[in-house]
Amino acid sequence: MARKPVLALVGRPNVGKSSLFNRFVGHRLAVTDEIPGTTRDRIQGESDWNGVEFHVIDTGGIEVYQPKGVRDTMPLAEGSADFVPQIRAQALLAIQDADVVVMVVDVRHGITAADEEIAEILRRSKRPVLVAANKTDEHNNKEAAFEFYALGLGEVIAISAIHELGIGDLLDLIIEEFKASPSASEEPDEENLHVAIVGRPNVGKSSTVNHLLGEERVIVSPIAGTTRDAIDTHIRYHGQEITLIDTAGIRKRGKIESGVEKYSVIRSLKALDRAHVALLLLDAVDGITEQDQHIGGYIQESKASAIIVVNKWDAVDKGVSSMNEFREEVAKKFDFLPYAPVLFVSAKTGQRIHTILETVVRVWEGRSVRIPTSELNTIIREALINHAPPPRGTKRLKLYYASQVAVEPPLFLFHVNDKNLVHFTYERYLENQIRLRYPFEGTPMRLSFRSREGNLEDPEL
Ligand code: GDP
Ligand code: GDP
Repeated sequence: MARKPVLALVGRPNVGKSSLFNRFVGHRLAVTDEIPGTTRDRIQGESDWNGVEFHVIDTGGIEVYQPKGVRDTMPLAEGSADFVPQIRAQALLAIQDADVVVMVVDVRHGITAADEEIAEILRRSKRPVLVAANKTDEHNNKEAAFEFYALGLGEVIAISAIHELGIGDLLDLIIEEFKASPSASEEPDEENLHVAIVGRPNVGKSSTVNHLLGEERVIVSPIAGTTRDAIDTHIRYHGQEITLIDTAGIRKRGKIESGVEKYSVIRSLKALDRAHVALLLLDAVDGITEQDQHIGGYIQESKASAIIVVNKWDAVDKGVSSMNEFREEVAKKFDFLPYAPVLFVSAKTGQRIHTILETVVRVWEGRSVRIPTSELNTIIREALINHAPPPRGTKRLKLYYASQVAVEPPLFLFHVNDKNLVHFTYERYLENQIRLRYPFEGTPMRLSFRSREGNLEDPEL
């Protein structure tokens, strides 16, 4: 699985990062707000240009942990000085993890002190940087953009995120940089089972990895001097080679700048791109937070299989029903991952830690199952008998034929009379019927419907 390259947008608050993000992603995910630095939920999306797919990260939305007293203090010309350490940290994250960085500036304000500060960080990095001189719209002339060559960062492109000017030119250059940058393309194809361990800080990722390694003690070879963003460790478990992608490990080995790196969305995304199975670690004591849900969302988008691991179960005051209650909470807050098994473990005491690799291997084996076509059609036929599609108006959905057209994750193609008659509840029903026979535990399943018109000789299932 070659991973998709990552584009990071950096810049001080209110220059238009979020607006540009929305342009790239094609729909509104981030919340644009007049208030500088307003926290946003959605900071990552997928985009593609001329056939090249890539991740887009709006670093302006990343909440960066910053301990008190860390150096910072260059006052901002506008807004609060509090933003300076925040945007510095965001820029640092971007250069660590992105393949290409677009620094967004505001032509209406010229170069500000905060711009200088970000530019300095970017100049010191080896990352390719493009400068998007935003808000070059009807009131501004394009020459105002040239000023930003003084930042010493390379190409400046005049754009307007709002009025959609210059976006295509910017995208052309971004793709050129992706192609020139080796990091995105040098990833080898990864054949053996890759497991990403993701979760917000302090949920116990490192402790869990250490425990897994300690249990198995059969490290084949840690990759020395790896250029990857996460630490890969190879283990062998009951004859199965597993590569653990530990997104926390790097941080533990040393920080590029003290206090900065706590949680990196980009790093998690890259790990997920390479993973077949993802362990989403939760902290049983803290309960499920929004950040946990976002990370769950990234897993869903990545198409990796998901296992939800509730850690620190030792530290929970347990009543008779606490496990069931937590399960219900998981089912509710991760309703988009209904297929994910839920494990309760303690990386501290080792309690039920063994269930992790057992489940990983089971999920991995299920992930590559291919249902024989005849059997699939039998399952669907029975499903139809038990619960026929409800009529919609005067029309009724007819299913002619189904086949599994892909594995890892499985994709099922249904030939129907009219795909517009497929209600999502019926689709969910069909999925569940397949899963009764073939659970595909932890694995997302896609159902695709294709209309066939006027083909009277097609027998219905
Ligand atoms: P961020 O804080 O850098 O993410 O900036 P936003 O995307 O939230 O934009 C800040 C403000 O600038 C919003 O009011 C946007 O509507 C406005 N804005 C963004 N792009 C443009 C543009 O191309 N032209 C103009 N005139 N305003 C823009
Ligand atoms: P990471 O940031 O996700 O890698 O989390 P760490 O593995 O560094 O753990 C964060 C903190 O939680 C540390 O103080 C651990 O000792 C503690 N911790 C981790 N797992 C458990 C657990 O199962 N039970 C308890 N009580 N504490 C744990």
